[in-house]
Amino acid sequence: MRVLAMLDGTLADPEAPHIRVDDLGLMRGDGIFETILVRGRHARELGPHLDRLARSAAMMELPVPDRAGFERACKVVIDNWPDDSDIALKVIHTRGVDGSTGGAPTGFALGMSIAEKTLRARELGVAAVTLDRGIDTGLAKRAPWLLLGAKSLSYAVNMAALREAERRGADEAVFVTGDGEVLEGPTATVILVNGRTMRTTPPDIGILPGTTQAAIFRAAERAGWQTLIEPLRVEDLRDADGMFLVSSVRTVTRVHTLDGQKLTDASELHTELTALYESEYTPA
Ligand code: PLP
Repeated sequence: MRVLAMLDGTLADPEAPHIRVDDLGLMRGDGIFETILVRGRHARELGPHLDRLARSAAMMELPVPDRAGFERACKVVIDNWPDDSDIALKVIHTRGVDGSTGGAPTGFALGMSIAEKTLRARELGVAAVTLDRGIDTGLAKRAPWLLLGAKSLSYAVNMAALREAERRGADEAVFVTGDGEVLEGPTATVILVNGRTMRTTPPDIGILPGTTQAAIFRAAERAGWQTLIEPLRVEDLRDADGMFLVSSVRTVTRVHTLDGQKLTDASELHTELTALYESEYTPA
């Protein structure tokens, strides 16, 4: 199932072409996106997602995204979704067509059903492999033109990493630096649990600041957990009581196997983190 809306609030046919072949989002991956979970007809973490869209736009010197337009398009998708099932809601903002439209960006919101594979991973957990991202921890600050930490449409590397993980018999990848620091998954943030402490890696090493991780940390702090944002080493992944990959549509998945080695069973922690995430839900 798919529902497509433009920023002026009009519905469009998701099976029909709408993007020009010379749109720079298509030609060069020169654009940005967000993927938002809609649950019970409520767009979860919509504010933080639109804040991050604006942040990515600033990093890439794109026109400022039309926030009211994106809110309108998201609402139209949700209002026109045929039932109360969860939706993966993508918002796209590209540099548009060079010159001929006066530099107007392209933007739309597309709601899609959630893939079976994602639902299964939530239930059963995943096997992951660590993969070298080919960067060091100082690179993001030293070379901002590399756009590390921007949610750009150039996700070919991230998708290639997932294919490599599959080739190695796993479901997921965790990017690491050449010197053994943990970065993030190709489409997820890493959270580690030890006792009543939750940890994740700092965004300034060149990763995306996760909206799901932030929601879980907010809830965890309210529930008396200690939360830390600090550099993590590959060894920390194996020493944790629980290792989790979190992102908007998957919500929380536990990693049960890392680089072929079974990890401590974190099924109960998985239930707990999922409940923390759910407790952040505040209907409008
Ligand atoms: N890191 C990367 C590279 C991602 O692509 C994503 C989401 O797709 C995340 C982290 C998790 O972000 P969020 O929790 O906001 O979905």
